[in-house]
Amino acid sequence: MSQAAPRKTDIGPPQYEKFLPPIVKKNYGKWLYHEILKPGVMVHVAESGDKLFTVRAGSPRLISIMTIRKFCDFADKYCSGFLRFTSRNNVEFLLTDQTKIDPLIADLKAVGFPVGGLGNSISNIVHTQGWVHCHSSATDASGIVKSVMDDLIEYFTGMKLPGKLRIALACCLNMCGAVHCSDIAILGVHRRPPKVQHDNLKKLCEIPTLISSCPTGAIRTAMVDGKESVEIEEDLCMYCANCYTVCPATALNDPLNDGISIWVGGKVSNARHEPMFSKLAIPYIPNNPPRWPEVVSAVRNLVEIWAKDARKYERMGEWINRIGWPRFFKKAGIEFTKYHIDDFKFAGTTYKKSVHLKY
Ligand code: SF4
Ligand code: SF4
Repeated sequence: MSQAAPRKTDIGPPQYEKFLPPIVKKNYGKWLYHEILKPGVMVHVAESGDKLFTVRAGSPRLISIMTIRKFCDFADKYCSGFLRFTSRNNVEFLLTDQTKIDPLIADLKAVGFPVGGLGNSISNIVHTQGWVHCHSSATDASGIVKSVMDDLIEYFTGMKLPGKLRIALACCLNMCGAVHCSDIAILGVHRRPPKVQHDNLKKLCEIPTLISSCPTGAIRTAMVDGKESVEIEEDLCMYCANCYTVCPATALNDPLNDGISIWVGGKVSNARHEPMFSKLAIPYIPNNPPRWPEVVSAVRNLVEIWAKDARKYERMGEWINRIGWPRFFKKAGIEFTKYHIDDFKFAGTTYKKSVHLKY
């Protein structure tokens, strides 16, 4: 009997240097400065005097192999076969010949890829799987992202905002991605407790893991019709779906009650102010596919009140800190409700403990 070839494993990703354009290899670590020449186009100048031009185009992130081939064709035509993707899933073409910038932009636009996302703009929306591929989603990702970016495209292709504005979306509060730390975050939420399938639970789930998955201790062991199962204390449940993540017999998806919450004021960078978590602005908007018009107009409203009021370079969270949350709710026309008040474990740290309130 012939021997099977040894299995190749633990080989890691390809060495990134193999894919660097020659100009980047030559000037690696020796860049002097960079400038944004116009929306979506920047130049890096090296100590050697070499210039590297970058053209950034938006991409829907979920792309077919045909689209990747199209990007490769453009890279072959304009950039000796080199391209890269950014941490917000934009695609960047790296050129050494400045005269090729405008023809590349024209080619990209002709097939539907807008150029922009640099400087004081709204760049791509970091997002998740939604109804395309994930079992625990309370909303869709690709559909909302397409609707919101269609509406805000002028802010992707232009640079007329006071500062950067980062939007992220996650379709459940596992928060895959960046919703907890974005200027505006769109987050899928459930509003009904799980329906326990007692017949299947013991066959499908580890009960101790299931019980310990609950952040509020709402799940207890129970015998139901002579079968080992669990019961859920519904008054303690806040519909996080963590139990469903570990146990398929506790589904809680509900087409009429699942929907969207919107959060504001998060940031990751240390510029001017330390990093901040996003905080709840709108507790619930119903799912309204395929274009989610209520979500689109809520996001536009937030962008516009911030853009009108913020100082140069002031991020959403910095602006709200300056004017105060009461004034933010007033300016945004958002009703402040009991749902905005933290009631989880160390909630007291978020309560106002002084008379310094700005109305
Ligand atoms: S955020 Fe939730 S629903 Fe969306 S991809 Fe992550 S785990 Fe799945
Ligand atoms: S949905 Fe969340 S809070 Fe409710 S029972 Fe499951 S884990 Fe607990």
